[in-house]
Amino acid sequence: MKSSNFAYCRPTSLAEVFDVFEHYGDDALILAGGQSLLPTLNMRLSNPSVLIDINRVIELQGVVEEGQYLKIGALTRHYEVESSSIVEKHVPLLHMAMPYVAHTAIRSRGTFGGSLAFADAAAEIPAITLTCEAIIQVHSKQGNRQIAVTDFFQGLYSTALQKGEIITRVLFPKNEFTHHVFKEFARRQGDYATVGIAIVAKFHLKQLQNIRIVYFGVSDRPIADVQLAQDVLAQDFNAQSIYQLSNRVGHDLEITTDIYHDRQTKHHLLKVIVKRALLELLGKVEDGVS
Ligand SMILES: Cc1cc2nc3c(=O)[nH]c(=O)nc-3n(C[C@H](O)[C@H](O)[C@H](O)COP(=O)(O)OP(=O)(O)OC[C@H]3O[C@@H](n4cnc5c(N)ncnc54)[C@H](O)[C@@H]3O)c2cc1C
Repeated sequence: MKSSNFAYCRPTSLAEVFDVFEHYGDDALILAGGQSLLPTLNMRLSNPSVLIDINRVIELQGVVEEGQYLKIGALTRHYEVESSSIVEKHVPLLHMAMPYVAHTAIRSRGTFGGSLAFADAAAEIPAITLTCEAIIQVHSKQGNRQIAVTDFFQGLYSTALQKGEIITRVLFPKNEFTHHVFKEFARRQGDYATVGIAIVAKFHLKQLQNIRIVYFGVSDRPIADVQLAQDVLAQDFNAQSIYQLSNRVGHDLEITTDIYHDRQTKHHLLKVIVKRALLELLGKVEDGVS
């Protein structure tokens, strides 16, 4: 199929973006890398009156270090995040996850803001953003606001973004954790995750002081397992407690299915991946690697 007709604008500043939004009203859509939007246009799942191509809005590009934060512009391509040495240094979990985002060709066009706005529940970037408790900065003609990532994802392909708003930057607190684990099961390298997990943990003198655990691919959005984190903190961190705790995960989750996996399979994979991820974390602590 081919898309229906739409107008096309290519502004060079945010001010111009907002002028186009104002002119066209609710039917305008942002075009960033186009990797997810263009298929939905061609399948006529969306019919905007105008596409606002933001690829020439230079102020949305790049990764910078500012104070306590690493700030990633919405238009930064996946491959730039993947190869950034300051991302590797300050947000190591994100650095670990980026090679799992799609394939090289898609990573050369797809953008950080596009992935968050699209909000696929099986995507890596939303899950890492939640694990790191990043802040999402959005702008509109009325000004700007910051959205805590815990409030941003609201359901399948659904976010707190309002009409006329655009993601401009994502603020990651500089890393305060000592250990990071990222794992996913996917049918092929580069596919969206069937089930995935991201963990950050802080150990001091081999004592676990803080841990955050996030799943993706199992619900309508990335999910922080606060209960498991509390349970892990409450016990001695060893193989026996990991086996016990991982067998209990997922019973209180509305696990979503996909076209290849039913609920039981996903639940089983979730327990396996939690066990493997926590055992990997234990191994890293014992080996003195982060
Ligand atoms: C075959 C294939 C496999 C893929 N596999 C994976 C994968 O394994 N993991 C993964 O994470 N992703 C995967 N993706 C998606 C890829 O990461 C996309 O790049 C990403 O989802 C969307 O980014 P984009 O820049 O291309 O956005 P676009 O396609 O341009 O836009 C997507 C949506 O976001 C909106 N939007 C874009 N930028 C902004 C902004 N700054 N503010 C507000 N709204 C905005 C658009 O209006 C549109 O609704 C895959 C894509 C394809 C085609």
